[in-house]
Amino acid sequence: MPPIDSFYTRTLAIEHAYPGLIGREEGDCIIIGAGLAGLSGALHLARAGKRVIVLESESVGWGASGRNGGFVSAGYACDGAAIARQVGTQAAQDLHHLSIEGAEMVRREIAALAMPGVDPVAGKLRLRRYDSAADLHREAEAMARLYEYPLTYLDRAAIRARLDTDRYHHGLLDHRAFHIHPLNYARGLAAEITRLGGRIYEASAATGHQLSDATKTITTAQGQAQAPHVIFATGGYTGPLLGRLRRAMLPIATYVMLSEEAPDLLASAIRTDAAISDNRRAGDYYRLVDGGRRLLWGGRITTRAAQPQGIVRELRHEMLTVYPQLAGLKTELAWSGLMAYARHLMPQIGALSSGVWHATAFGGHGLNTTAIGGRVVAEAVLGETDRIRHFAPFRLVWAGGSVGLLAAQMTYWKLQAQDWWSER
Ligand SMILES: Cc1cc2nc3c(=O)[nH]c(=O)nc-3n(C[C@H](O)[C@H](O)[C@H](O)COP(=O)(O)OP(=O)(O)OC[C@H]3O[C@@H](n4cnc5c(N)ncnc54)[C@H](O)[C@@H]3O)c2cc1C
Repeated sequence: MPPIDSFYTRTLAIEHAYPGLIGREEGDCIIIGAGLAGLSGALHLARAGKRVIVLESESVGWGASGRNGGFVSAGYACDGAAIARQVGTQAAQDLHHLSIEGAEMVRREIAALAMPGVDPVAGKLRLRRYDSAADLHREAEAMARLYEYPLTYLDRAAIRARLDTDRYHHGLLDHRAFHIHPLNYARGLAAEITRLGGRIYEASAATGHQLSDATKTITTAQGQAQAPHVIFATGGYTGPLLGRLRRAMLPIATYVMLSEEAPDLLASAIRTDAAISDNRRAGDYYRLVDGGRRLLWGGRITTRAAQPQGIVRELRHEMLTVYPQLAGLKTELAWSGLMAYARHLMPQIGALSSGVWHATAFGGHGLNTTAIGGRVVAEAVLGETDRIRHFAPFRLVWAGGSVGLLAAQMTYWKLQAQDWWSER
């Protein structure tokens, strides 16, 4: 295996396209964090004619938003049954509708703005590594009935027609899910925000604040931004700036690797351009990228930064249990990113005090949920709707600090053990 020396630092978002904040700026809303949550909120506000100021510590899409697997599909990090147990059936269905809307928003923006390099590709296979399918049929039926959302059941033969592996027994094809180049999507949103007059500042970490007056002030190393509204959208990179927000989430690392170019070898294993995931609770997700020339493979979570070589070895081991024929496929690049998880596994979207908003904790299901989460918080800032109320039950609860991280790691190991048992 080649050395992957830049594992911790390298993401595709290394260049700066926007200036740093120097001096004092005034606007209608300051957004902290240029990930997809912040950018989605900023775009809606800019379209409504508001003067937005986006402050980003690093560069647009530098966090999870530019590093993720690019799967866009309905749902949340918390599964539907668990959401219903927390808030009841009707509220869970309303939330699911919003999650579908989020995915559709992403699709629409890409098309309407003709975003370069985002390359949406339709379809996602959710596959099962053990022999049991009754609940998949039930799920497909319920999704069609409740949401008019098409899911097609796939048996072993239908899966084998697409994938040369014996690993999978059953699956669902999600026709409306799609996959994209997420960093280029973030850059496309940023370009539209600036075209509408929004101001984006990179290398401009928010380091201080005054949030109690009607006009809020956020300070950076070299500047100051002022506005009546502030939205915190700092995801898994949330620092100590707002203790309440920091304490309410756990930063969880996850990993992606990208293969060398090997279209013929890849075609011997994977004959679909749909995205693929297995539905273990701690599962793999992968897809062909660059027009089928490379394989992007993601998986594993850790609560502490893991050794790069070890993680790549684990991901490769996992890949080869599914596709032994890919043994000769070299890994060219691998990276990690931090997701923010709340204890209830749902996004935390709401107001801390008058004019102080937050949209964080999208977990591992952020592409659709940041779109709708950013949108509903912007609607609340504008006084347009109160759709933010759907997220009110998922408060900022203490995530447990280092004990919470330990508990998360234990839960992950338990889920891995349960998956292993089911597959036996
Ligand atoms: C490897 C990986 C794979 C994933 N795969 C998928 C997938 O396939 N599908 C899916 O739906 N979801 C996926 N996710 C989850 C998804 O990427 C996240 O849920 C989503 O991107 C979170 O967006 P965000 O805007 O909340 O956070 P981020 O994108 O992390 O953005 C937060 C930003 O805030 C900035 N920031 C932090 N503090 C400050 C400060 N003080 N001042 C200024 N800026 C600050 C950070 O630099 C960062 O850019 C994946 C995540 C990872 C890490």
